Amino acid sequence: FKARWWSLNKVKTVCSYCGTGCNLTLGVKDNKVLTTIYDENQGFHNGQLCTRGRFGYQFVNSAKRLTTPLVRKGGQLEPATWEEALSLVKQQLSDAKAVGGSSCAGLVTPRLTNEELYLFKKLFNEAIGSDNIDHSAGYGHAALTAGAAESIGVPASSATIADIQASDLLLVIKSDAYETHPVLGFEINLGVKRKAIDLRIVSDKSGKLTKLPKATTYLHKPGGEVALLNALAKVILDEGLTADAAASITGFEQLKKDLESAAAASTVCGVSADEIATLARDYAKAGKALIVFPTGIGYPSHGKALAQAAFNLALLTGKVSSEGNGVLILGEKNNSQGAADLKLHPVAGGKDAAAIIDGCASGAIKTLYVVGENPVISYPNRQKVEAALGKVDFLVVQDLFLTETAARANVVLPACSFAEKDGSFTSVGKAVQRVRKAIKPVGLAKSDFEILSELCATVGGGERYRDVAAVFDEIAKNVPAYAGLTLEGLGENGKVYHVTVKPKFVSVSAEVPVAEPGTMILVTGSALYHCGTMSLFGEGPMYVCPEGYVELGRSDAARLGVADGTDLMIKSKIGEVKLKAKVGNRLPEGVVFAPYHFAEQSINTITDGSTATLVSISK
Ligand code: SF4
Repeated sequence: FKARWWSLNKVKTVCSYCGTGCNLTLGVKDNKVLTTIYDENQGFHNGQLCTRGRFGYQFVNSAKRLTTPLVRKGGQLEPATWEEALSLVKQQLSDAKAVGGSSCAGLVTPRLTNEELYLFKKLFNEAIGSDNIDHSAGYGHAALTAGAAESIGVPASSATIADIQASDLLLVIKSDAYETHPVLGFEINLGVKRKAIDLRIVSDKSGKLTKLPKATTYLHKPGGEVALLNALAKVILDEGLTADAAASITGFEQLKKDLESAAAASTVCGVSADEIATLARDYAKAGKALIVFPTGIGYPSHGKALAQAAFNLALLTGKVSSEGNGVLILGEKNNSQGAADLKLHPVAGGKDAAAIIDGCASGAIKTLYVVGENPVISYPNRQKVEAALGKVDFLVVQDLFLTETAARANVVLPACSFAEKDGSFTSVGKAVQRVRKAIKPVGLAKSDFEILSELCATVGGGERYRDVAAVFDEIAKNVPAYAGLTLEGLGENGKVYHVTVKPKFVSVSAEVPVAEPGTMILVTGSALYHCGTMSLFGEGPMYVCPEGYVELGRSDAARLGVADGTDLMIKSKIGEVKLKAKVGNRLPEGVVFAPYHFAEQSINTITDGSTATLVSISK
């Protein structure tokens, strides 16, 4: 048996799925990752891993990995040498630079290491002269961290993972951490069981977390979170439950004024005024209270307002950044926090992900460089994305697999997985952790560091980086949170950075979507896999959930005469898709949920990126 642990080379690294940042040990033999090894001494989580971390590694050695560059010739992608493929990319990027850079845009996955993300940004901002860069988290996590940047001065949580166990009350907004960040779900469960932490969940659907015996759940209408948080703030202000320092924070008087109508808003979010008052009092009076956002469940367009409404609550009650207090934003992907720290989204004047797709469609963007993202599947409105990609003059895709986006490219560059890389990831708890190379690149694949370092040097001029440690040193000089850190100095356990809060109240509001007669509200998101760029190539995750589905609550299923497995047609204003039904207890009446990662049953053929998509359902 090949995977006997004593015959394996063991390499400590960090899980490449979600932002929890679990440490893991890869068991390696013959340049293949054969297993992950349980090590109870590893990480804050004592070696525990979820299904993805434990069994999701098979994508690394998938037979479908890209092993050679591809160049489009006569309409077909043909194998090419690195020299040929890179010279085409260099020429294209240099041409874009020569005309000012703004016709060039980049989309990059927050799954890259910090060092690679830094080089991607440097390639665009400095070498090419374009501010058009973003990542898929621009549709979710980046909006939350942008809200944090305005409310507390840094695009990050004001709390760490250790604050979960130190708190007395957890206010979890939009469950389900168990699904999106399972090991943090265990942490919350541990805290509730061992320390009797008071768990309150504000969500538009139930989940594993809401089933914990002591959880109190406030089910609200989809899109009603901001109205609900504002109503909580209003109770805190009306009942004088604010901290002494709150009145001196910028924006306090304006917030008071703007929240005058917040109580009325509570009626549209579907939670009773009594429940809101009780929750507001319990949160304000708790010794220590932590707000947690488990992202990944279809965060709509009001993510920024949502974060700001949460920070308003924390600032009002003086619970923003001390032990056991604060706001913990759970970035979906393994390095979502690193991407926020390194500002991998456009500066003022640049285009974000949605505007980049629009720019491709209008002809303003002529060259698009996509690293590790699959916009065709994971961005809203698949038809629009496909049409937009069809209009660009030159599409470069750098990835592990020939994704639906890569299949449309002019040049495809085969990249390395996390198991073939050195560098660092930053977890949702702001732990900067060491990623270690376990195997040699598969086939002719190159690390994103190697490719981007080469492009920075040739397109921008200047020297190539000696190694990833040299890039990390540059990050430490330019990013205040990383000052004083070195790659080697991260050691076995990583380093948690702490932020200095510059507080400000920001008044926010968001419309609650209302279903029209005969329609239901569609919420899309992740079911185990995130965007599927890795997990769909791993046998473990695919065994658990092999295809797309649409989930309905029992009362809607009964009304429509639908059972598990019934074929359904889901129609929106922009399209339709056929999916099998999954019936359960999680969803409130009038709401359906569908995961977005499956290409065959692509739910993004019917979403348009608005707060909520209204759909009709028929058999
Ligand atoms: Fe990996 Fe996240 Fe699971 Fe931890 S919780 S093992 S980081 S996917």
